[in-house]
Amino acid sequence: MRMHVEEMLEIMRCWRCHEYIKGGEGEQHPPSPDDGVRPSVENGLITLQCSGCSRNYIFSDGVFSEEISDDVSGLEDKDLDRLSAERLGFTPCPKERRAEQEKLIDRLDLFEDSKVLDVSPDTSRNLSSISRYLTDEGRVVGVGPSAETFGVARMIRDDLGVPVGFVQGQPESLPFNDNTFNAVLYVGELSTRLERVKILKELVRVAIPQAKIVVAEEGLPPLLRKALGKPQLCEAPPVGAVPGGELKSFELDWGDAELFYIFEMTKKGASTTLSR
Ligand SMILES: [Zn+2]
Repeated sequence: MRMHVEEMLEIMRCWRCHEYIKGGEGEQHPPSPDDGVRPSVENGLITLQCSGCSRNYIFSDGVFSEEISDDVSGLEDKDLDRLSAERLGFTPCPKERRAEQEKLIDRLDLFEDSKVLDVSPDTSRNLSSISRYLTDEGRVVGVGPSAETFGVARMIRDDLGVPVGFVQGQPESLPFNDNTFNAVLYVGELSTRLERVKILKELVRVAIPQAKIVVAEEGLPPLLRKALGKPQLCEAPPVGAVPGGELKSFELDWGDAELFYIFEMTKKGASTTLSR
């Protein structure tokens, strides 16, 4: 199922200037179901505009993006540059990997009406597993680097009974209001990214108080790194980048196949209804 554009706009902000994104000319904002967003529709695309910086956005087939672009080469290059544990032959069999992934999702403490944010290079990987916990009262919003990365995820979404939305965006500047999601998952590059402090802060910012925030990145535990004589092979988990002051709890863990580390965090603060 697709999330409606009106519902997406309620939780979103421009990722460049953090102002509200609006439909057509002269709309009142923030948008609400009452004042009715009347986006302009052209060729099946809904065009929207930031009320602050006037940046144009597109909503098409449940995907919210800045523009339709087919350039994903940058992402692939970066992935290829990185020495990975998998290249050394530590790839677990798919069944083990599946089990690891299920355990990762399990850490999010999902309820049937949870609003879940999944920030990963390929949102199709977690979509089915997350949706298994949810009913049509729940929501899943996937964030990826470009509109094209949602290709497979869109097909999976169409078979799910849970409304799903996709947003093109960057983890260091998430296009959402504060305190929006009941659970936040980040799977991807973190330790080598200069913006790691910003990324972790953003993941916590968009989570509601008491929400679980789970981060997973490929990595080798210290003993294995040392045993291989290549301490530079995978960076150590960036524990120093974790915004401890905003957290009620923090735990560093390793996948059972020990190919990735996990940050399991709980946001501090009193559990309240969603704030805007
Ligand atoms: Zn803007």
